Amino acid sequence: GPQRLPFEQHRIDRRLVSRHAIKVCEVLQQAGFEAYIVGGAVRDLLVGLEPKDFDVATNATPEQIRPLFRRARIIGRRFKLVHVVFGREIIETSTFRADNKQHEITDAHGRILRDNDYGELKDDAMRRDFTLNALYYDPTSETVIDYHQGVEDLKKRTVRIIGDAETRYREDPVRMLRALRFAAKLDATIDPGTHAPIAQLAHLIENVPESRLFDESIKLLACGNAMVCLKMLQAEGLGEQLFPILEQLLHRDEDRAFIDLALSRTDARVRSGKTISPSFLFATLLWPIVREKWQAYQKQGMHPAQAIAHASDDALQLQSRAMPIQKRFQSDMREIWFTQTRFERVNNRAIWRMMEQPRFRASVDFLQLRAAVKEVDSVDAQWWMDLANADTENRSILIAER
Ligand code: ATP
Ligand code: MG
Repeated sequence: GPQRLPFEQHRIDRRLVSRHAIKVCEVLQQAGFEAYIVGGAVRDLLVGLEPKDFDVATNATPEQIRPLFRRARIIGRRFKLVHVVFGREIIETSTFRADNKQHEITDAHGRILRDNDYGELKDDAMRRDFTLNALYYDPTSETVIDYHQGVEDLKKRTVRIIGDAETRYREDPVRMLRALRFAAKLDATIDPGTHAPIAQLAHLIENVPESRLFDESIKLLACGNAMVCLKMLQAEGLGEQLFPILEQLLHRDEDRAFIDLALSRTDARVRSGKTISPSFLFATLLWPIVREKWQAYQKQGMHPAQAIAHASDDALQLQSRAMPIQKRFQSDMREIWFTQTRFERVNNRAIWRMMEQPRFRASVDFLQLRAAVKEVDSVDAQWWMDLANADTENRSILIAER
């Protein structure tokens, strides 16, 4: 049977638990169901990190869950789950699932294409990826339920897969990326048996839908230890498949300073609970290429605006060969890059229009990064930052004094 840890043994501070997640559990339990907070939130609470969202697992079916709440909607087609909505917080509430091997449909590499059987708590714990992600917290009794020694692994800072590593990676190759991400995020090591198959199976990432890879790549960059994460990816041979530019980024001295700074700022934002923008992140990652090509095209006699457009095409195309970035992010990135060329040349009249552009603020932040690595003048960059922060009256003054 599972271990049941009372408060004294886990010491989860109830004040850090979302009251809405507690509410969802209470309502379900009062209706006669089992309900627990599960997954990343429990893991993060146990190591003293603030969870970014809360998921609930229950033996109630979506059809049983929905009528219990005022604002709840069933989502998902393949596997239904319920979003219970409280103002701006959504508690994702899903029914215990089993990975029923008989009903499973896999592709030629063993990847699971469909799994949709309900199960019991112990089945639900079994189908989760890592021991430290298979923990259940009952806020009513303040008990943590642990089927796979996840609490111990968490204490030892070990990322350990549940079941046979190779099989689990074949079922879902994204688990390899997740292993690295949790190791980086938690300052943990990957258990040798969990680690060993990754290098040989790295190529399976090719079979993962691009949109899912993109989402995962954002999570990797936003794990709070982005550089560690990228180095691990590279070491496992997974880097090129997500970020073709990675080799260059990690090994060219002139690029390192910029990337180190950009990623450490991202880490700082993540750790203080701020959101990060995927387009800004990718704009920084690809900037070394854009900058290089931009200069090269200008040397060939191109106008700066035209040169940056061509350079942007080149960088986005290189990225697309591995993992295309969604169109809307691409256009934001182009705007951030293009605006870099305008900072130097824009006349006072055009500044007002420039400030109205939606990516203006992000572009000014980007300029700060460039100034910090001495790519542009830091007095200029500060002037733009002051301008971005000023109210209309002070903007007029700043522009008049320019
Ligand atoms: P975070 O949200 O901080 O990135 P998380 O652990 O909450 O981390 P989610 O992607 O939100 O990650 O997934 C929630 C839970 O679902 C995980 O903790 C894990 O138990 C389970 N899970 C997620 N992805 C997989 C997967 N690919 N295979 C098996 N279980 C998974
Ligand atoms: Mg989560």
